[in-house]
Amino acid sequence: MRILIAEDDRLLGEGILAGLKQKGFKAEWLQDGLAAWNALQAEAFSALVLDLGLPKLPGLDLLRRLRASGSTIPVLILTARDTPQDIVAGLDTGADDYLVKPFDLGELAARLRSLVRRAAGGAAPTLECGRLRLDPAARSIEYEGHPIELTTREFGLLHELMLNAGKVLTRAQLESKLYAWGEEVESNALEVHVHHLRRKLAAGLIRTVRGVGYIMPK
Ligand code: CA
Repeated sequence: MRILIAEDDRLLGEGILAGLKQKGFKAEWLQDGLAAWNALQAEAFSALVLDLGLPKLPGLDLLRRLRASGSTIPVLILTARDTPQDIVAGLDTGADDYLVKPFDLGELAARLRSLVRRAAGGAAPTLECGRLRLDPAARSIEYEGHPIELTTREFGLLHELMLNAGKVLTRAQLESKLYAWGEEVESNALEVHVHHLRRKLAAGLIRTVRGVGYIMPK
């Protein structure tokens, strides 16, 4: 799961970025609305954490633009504005959730997990594919009832494939969800992670779609 944070308060932005990373999310942080809009046009994110008072493009304007462009990305508004009118305006402009500052990082993380699973069409807190079970909150995997140890990247890759079971994910889509900006991506890194997952789980669990990417059959 890769989250974009649009927040102009430096201390808060840094805090959310560090907190989400510590809870196992990939996250990027931008300090103005226009930069966030541009990033959302260029890359795939699992969800957007949006401050309302942002320079260059205010949060609600960014949200309006996003929804007008057809984007369905889950959006959680994070703001100090807490009147019922503010909350109604945020939700009616296209936000999916609303959290008022000051807030608890554990609650933000749980709300993001909930938004992402809803956006993928699921309601259950754990994902199941055949004999494979993934718990995003506990960051644990079970295969045929046995716990399996995975690296952070392997877990992230499996999570994306399970969230989108039955759909082909391109290499670019997977790489953009697994790697943060500035992180070096080796050209065969994805193949290596898939190879390790097949070895730790089952050979046929992840299928290669030649020249395109990977799919986990439902
Ligand atoms: Ca602000």
